[in-house]
Amino acid sequence: ARLRRSLQLRNWCYPVHASLSYEAIKQEYRPEVPEYFNFARDVLDRWTEVEKEGKRSKNPALWWVDGAGEEVRWSFEELGVLSRKVANVLSDACGLQREDRVILILPRIPEWWLVNVACMRTGTVLIPGTQQLTAKDILHRLQKSKAKCIITDDCVAPAVDSIGAQCQSLKFKLLVSEGHREGWLNFKDLLKNAPSDHHCVTTKCQDPMAIYFTSGTTGSPKMTEHSHSSYGIGLTVSGRYWLDLTSSDIFWNTSDTGWAKSAWSSIFSPWIQGACVFVHKMPHFDPSIVFESLSRFPITVFCSPPTAYRMFVQHKVSSYTFKSLRHCVSAGEPINPDVMEEWKAQTGLDIHEGYGQTETVLICGNFKGMKIKPGSMGKPSPGYDVKDDPEKTEATIRGDFYVTGDRGIMDEEGYFWFVGRADDVINSAGYRIGPFEVESALVEHPAVVESAVVSSPDPIRGEVVKAFVVLTSDYASHDPEKIMKELQDHVKTVTAPYKYPRKMEFVQQLPKTISGKIRRNELRQKEWTKD
Ligand code: ATP
Ligand code: MG
Repeated sequence: ARLRRSLQLRNWCYPVHASLSYEAIKQEYRPEVPEYFNFARDVLDRWTEVEKEGKRSKNPALWWVDGAGEEVRWSFEELGVLSRKVANVLSDACGLQREDRVILILPRIPEWWLVNVACMRTGTVLIPGTQQLTAKDILHRLQKSKAKCIITDDCVAPAVDSIGAQCQSLKFKLLVSEGHREGWLNFKDLLKNAPSDHHCVTTKCQDPMAIYFTSGTTGSPKMTEHSHSSYGIGLTVSGRYWLDLTSSDIFWNTSDTGWAKSAWSSIFSPWIQGACVFVHKMPHFDPSIVFESLSRFPITVFCSPPTAYRMFVQHKVSSYTFKSLRHCVSAGEPINPDVMEEWKAQTGLDIHEGYGQTETVLICGNFKGMKIKPGSMGKPSPGYDVKDDPEKTEATIRGDFYVTGDRGIMDEEGYFWFVGRADDVINSAGYRIGPFEVESALVEHPAVVESAVVSSPDPIRGEVVKAFVVLTSDYASHDPEKIMKELQDHVKTVTAPYKYPRKMEFVQQLPKTISGKIRRNELRQKEWTKD
């Protein structure tokens, strides 16, 4: 994927109606990367002005609910005031300087958004982490990043204390809690007493803004640094044309606060457009909470990963009415065409798939108004040249290109189709087989909830296709031999027969990352180390 460097920024702060065709969008999008840029000052504070002039809808900037009756609604102005107070907490109470690193581990609570914005205002570098990190993970992240400050809650604080002594650079621990804890500053107390005037630092576009950890699908999560402009300007296209947001929209992205996806879709993309970020605290993922919220709140745009949509279509979505919902997206993994069809049948809505990485912004997407080819991740994001590169390489930069490590093909109409992560592609007797196509074929069968397809050793073919299959409860008690045969025949009829899984194993669940991505490499490793 080659990022066109000659981008020019044009009216990025204002909504443009995306009734344009994809080709027109490609023409229209010419962002310019200015020398100085700070998202808090240049985007959020400008939306405050627009809001004050009465030129924005009455929607809050942040609309948070906990599902038990608690709600928080902040306008851009309130978000500005509170985030300035938090900026003062970071600078004064903690004495943090520009480029000092701050680890933030909080569930989906409003303070998470305040700290994000406060870090931009102070020029400190934010490192978000998920609540599910263990003490060992936190130690690794503290040591690797040399973070000076950690902000977390009562759940995670004991884990931090158990390893804190091993982290020399850690100077401040802030607890977001009603209670107090030895050795920790109380965030809420400090916030209450902090002044609300704060002068936002001047940051260059390329200055570091945040470090996100990758999902860890193929190994341990890797640190990825982003500058003030990389997401702050780079996600304009996704907010406008992929998510199709304007300042009148209410957007709900369900991702966990620990991943870059929450920066993409719960901060930058919607707020660039002046849209309302809707958040449900949802401590446990539960399809019925999602359906109830989509029925109850005027949410217009919704984003969830494929693993969630696979769960949604197993439930009765059609018994709910989503009054305001008009646009759905998914990203993070390929979404099975059958799941898209089922979702459409039950809700009347398409799923606009997008593809990108923690390291990048949106690379390919199904943009508003574009014909959707189920199974394809769409066309290159305006601003990117994306090419199919068949050669194997470890290098991530070749000439002008950034090599994603993913394999895809481009069809004659310029749509990209995800084949698999380079390591996941199966090479059986000379045939190259992408796992996703076989998994999508399997999931079309009523017996299959989901599956993971990997290579497995074979004395003659080198490697063969093996499928790990989770059966629906109706089929779980059937004769495994019979179902296996039925599924193999089914795959042979819906894809090229050579791709059918010669080996199959029925499992209760698939190994996944915390964010819900299938960890094929774990299954593959087991296959190849078995005696
Ligand atoms: P790690 O790099 O630690 O192994 P990860 O690559 O899963 O983890 P992320 O940056 O969260 O970490 O995910 C990016 C990857 O997710 C892409 O390289 C691609 O493999 C996959 N991906 C994202 N969106 C899609 C999509 N729409 N279709 C297919 N794959 C996708
Ligand atoms: Mg990766």
